[in-house]
Amino acid sequence: MIAVVKRTATDEQLEHFIAWIENRGFKTHVSEGDNETIVGIIGDTTQIDPFLLESMSIIERVQRVSEPFKKANRKFHPEDTVVDCGHGVLIGGGHFQVMAGPCSVEGKNLLKIATLAKQAGATMLRGGAYKPRTSPYAFQGMGEEGLDLLLEASAQLDMPVVTEIMDPRDVQLFVDKNIDVMQVGARNAQNFNLLKEVGKTQTPVLLKRGLSGTVDELLMAAEYIMSEGNPNVILCERGIRTFETRTRNTFDVNAIPVLKHLSHLPVVADPSHATGYTRYVRPAAYAATAAGADGLEIEVHDCPSEAWSDGAQALTPEQFADAMRRIRLIREAVTADIAQEA
Ligand code: PEP
Ligand code: MN
Repeated sequence: MIAVVKRTATDEQLEHFIAWIENRGFKTHVSEGDNETIVGIIGDTTQIDPFLLESMSIIERVQRVSEPFKKANRKFHPEDTVVDCGHGVLIGGGHFQVMAGPCSVEGKNLLKIATLAKQAGATMLRGGAYKPRTSPYAFQGMGEEGLDLLLEASAQLDMPVVTEIMDPRDVQLFVDKNIDVMQVGARNAQNFNLLKEVGKTQTPVLLKRGLSGTVDELLMAAEYIMSEGNPNVILCERGIRTFETRTRNTFDVNAIPVLKHLSHLPVVADPSHATGYTRYVRPAAYAATAAGADGLEIEVHDCPSEAWSDGAQALTPEQFADAMRRIRLIREAVTADIAQEA
């Protein structure tokens, strides 16, 4: 971290500032230029609040030179992380996976949807048993019964399940039931107690970007989980809230290469919540695949008009099968080892 000192600062004020920093266990390096004096602050500056320094009268501005996320940072871990999602399914480091299924687990139709999704090429089953709904009067999910339906389908089809966890008190239940992947949803992306609690397990976590979360906030959320000891984090871009109203969210396709540049963790995209309308889900899925995502999470329902949640953005199994055929082609193009022509 570097602090640029105002030209008007007296030697005494500068000495006072340096003493303040060093008293907190940091080393300093002062370089006096013709126009400005820069104080380099050396040590684990994640502990320092840059805004506090900037509020000091002699400080012009403060800049971090290293990111505050360490465990999620590619600088300290250049190799891609590969997360083992169970049932032999790996994600990251060249392993591409598609998670498909209904928004909510609704009952017996889950197995039908899962079977069709698997036939089309899905490798993981998604479905919410605990649903974060904007209205308390909307369907809240089947709870534990929903988890059991997911596990039945998982066993029958030999595919891992990914399902949302909303409450830190449910972590033990998810672990006891051997849920393959716990999803932390957009609304909980900064629920630090939940992040810490899932961080105490070794269960893979699909961590969604917050509704208005920056890339750095997503990476700091991952840091919360990893700093508790769980390295199995999968990042998910699911659209962010912007001024645009034609879609449910704005799909930030940029975030995919940005996250892959900054972090070694696998990056998944969710084109369903990113767009909110069935007609836009496939184009967004193709864009995400072309942008180098390590996987996709797509809502699929056998009868979207009857879905208990998010029917407006569900693909039918036929639409999903069509999408999968094209996703495979795009994936081939993106990963092809094409010789340079002279
Ligand atoms: C979901 O996956 O059904 C969901 C609620 O997603 P998000 O947290 O991204 O809104
Ligand atoms: Mn949904």
